[in-house]
Amino acid sequence: MSDALSSSVQYIKGVGPSKSRLLARLGIHSVRDALYYLPYRYEDRSSVRKIASLIPGEVHSITGKVLKSELITPRAGRSKLKIFELIISDGSGLLSAKWFNQAYLKKIFRPGQELILYGMVKPGYRNAGLEIINPEYEMLEEEEDNAYQTTQSDSPMQGSNHIHTGRIVPIYRCTEGISQKQLRNIIYSVISAHISSVQEPLPPEIIKKYNLPSLQDSLLNVHFPASSVLLESLIKGTSIYHQRLAFDELFIFQLGLAAIKNGETLKNGISFTPDYTLINKLLNKLPFKLTRAQERVFGEIINDMKSHFPMNRLIQGDVGSGKTIVAFMSMLAAVESGYQAALMAPTEILAEQHYLNMHRLAEDLGLKIHLLTGSMKGKETENIASGNADIIIGTHALIQERVLFKKLGIAVIDEQHRFGVRQRALLRGKGTNPDVLIMTATPIPRTLAMTLYGDLDYSIIDELPPDRSPIITKLLYEHQKNRIYDIMETEISKGRQVYVVYPVIEESENTDMRSALKGAEALQKMFAAFKVGLIHGRLRPESREEVMREFKQGNIQILVSTTVIEVGVDVPNATLMLIINAERFGLAQLHQLRGRVGRGSEQSCCILLCYGRAEDAMRRLNVMVETNDGFRIAEEDLNIRGPGEFFGTRQSGLPDLKIANLVRDVKILEKARKEAFLLIEKDPDLKGHALLKRTIEDFWGKRIEMLKTA
Ligand code: ADP
Ligand code: MG
Repeated sequence: MSDALSSSVQYIKGVGPSKSRLLARLGIHSVRDALYYLPYRYEDRSSVRKIASLIPGEVHSITGKVLKSELITPRAGRSKLKIFELIISDGSGLLSAKWFNQAYLKKIFRPGQELILYGMVKPGYRNAGLEIINPEYEMLEEEEDNAYQTTQSDSPMQGSNHIHTGRIVPIYRCTEGISQKQLRNIIYSVISAHISSVQEPLPPEIIKKYNLPSLQDSLLNVHFPASSVLLESLIKGTSIYHQRLAFDELFIFQLGLAAIKNGETLKNGISFTPDYTLINKLLNKLPFKLTRAQERVFGEIINDMKSHFPMNRLIQGDVGSGKTIVAFMSMLAAVESGYQAALMAPTEILAEQHYLNMHRLAEDLGLKIHLLTGSMKGKETENIASGNADIIIGTHALIQERVLFKKLGIAVIDEQHRFGVRQRALLRGKGTNPDVLIMTATPIPRTLAMTLYGDLDYSIIDELPPDRSPIITKLLYEHQKNRIYDIMETEISKGRQVYVVYPVIEESENTDMRSALKGAEALQKMFAAFKVGLIHGRLRPESREEVMREFKQGNIQILVSTTVIEVGVDVPNATLMLIINAERFGLAQLHQLRGRVGRGSEQSCCILLCYGRAEDAMRRLNVMVETNDGFRIAEEDLNIRGPGEFFGTRQSGLPDLKIANLVRDVKILEKARKEAFLLIEKDPDLKGHALLKRTIEDFWGKRIEMLKTA
């Protein structure tokens, strides 16, 4: 954007070339950057006390007059220490202010000056009165002319020229070479000089509807709050001014998503014409009835598929909710209509499992199904290109350049959180506006899903098959190992199977984590009458498949593994999950792992074996013990890890949010989203909102182009 706010911060009073280089390190290049460089906390220095009522040990502001100013060189030793001391009086008493080794201050202070001091009050040297060491200070007499005059009576900048003391003071993240005070002065100068050229980007209807403060007032108050703003709301970022800025950011973000989504609906997709012969045949072969949630979601998908818009739908469902069968039915709908269907999974194990599961069903229906993983060669790709394959299941291998489809109608992406936006786009590019179905088992609170997947439609399978009973989760420690072995033995002797998951394949010097290799060995000795299997990422795919098959068929009773079995693996007879070094795993991962049991009608159990009691680990593990609800776990995870890490913003290719916080500002997000989609509906190209349009382009940058091709 080129306007006054884009000008370099270098020309601001007190900046210049060398300071502007330092500011650049903070990400502050332009005036706009400075305006949006928000304080990360605030200090209340507003209550000014009489010297007589100061309390040692507390932090106070005082105002007073300089009686004496003196540079002292203590004679003791060869120390070069210089102390600058002021004696201040406010009529109620005397206070000493001291600075160490800042001889230049002698030039700044003179007797008779009025000033404000702020700092920690201490008993004086040898109990002589009270003193403040290194206080922040500000002269009272130096009137600065404020370029900005607001009409608000309670304006933060009007009639008050102190910015470091005697008010709620902003604290910024600094960098070496710029002090807190200098940075505060710079931000103040930027605001004084430029706040009046900040234009209001929001449509007036929205401002009015939500009773939002103006952008100018908001920027002003987040930096130099009016005295009426509550300190706590500033610190938490929930003041109306912070909320207004968060609204802007989320609104711009959602406008981008709305524009992308709107662009998608303009494309010509495939109108599928399923006659349900394959689908009904499949349903007749299944040993169970679909849940109502599965039926509802399939209905939503079929509607999309029949319409001439390309489908972009996200299916969310907790582990075990039965997403796979819904995806398979959707793939059949495409095949019935004369198209190919592809499913992409994040790991070979998972792709292989999908293949094994669908393989028999598909061949019974007379379809040709192929598996494409990294370890496969040319023949498979020929089958895909010639149309000799109806259904193709694979890993990232599917999006290699050399893989061409004859007629791709639907692309299903399993466990989407493992793939980035780009990979989604590449798979989509294998067809001509194919329908896309994305499945995720990382439950995300609905409102938050809108943010990450805001350009997608959204279905949720919010019901587990009726035969499931909740998994019991126990937290146990090293000294309780014997109890764990007893539980394992009981379970196996009932004919059930056990997973034992380790954090690493092999022991290493750098960690004290238990390893799958050693664990498998030890368990095989202990349970000599049973078969212990071992599976990990370093085995060749064929060996892994072999072990999985043996486990599925019940020939292996104890399967030792690493997290390769984390997603999707399905063996209903496995009823016990033991996770070793559980404190080393993240919440989402633990929930996924636990989801490997509780897939049949038998009571299942998950044991978290924990070494040590670190606080944040305990927090995670207790959440696991308390609930099986993936949504609650996701919320806790979000609270513990924070949105950035939770969403893996960088990987997903979505813009970072600077002001809004997806946990704190969910309500604002909902409003922003609603308004953004309404606005794009009314004015798809934002012809009537030029400033907004430019802001969106700035915010999204090249990403919006990338998403458009997605
Ligand atoms: P996820 O949603 O975690 O991917 P899956 O699709 O792997 O779950 O399904 C988990 C298990 O539940 C599978 O064994 C599947 O066959 C079974 N299943 C799916 N739908 C139903 C249903 N409606 N009733 C009973 N079992 C079902
Ligand atoms: Mg699955």
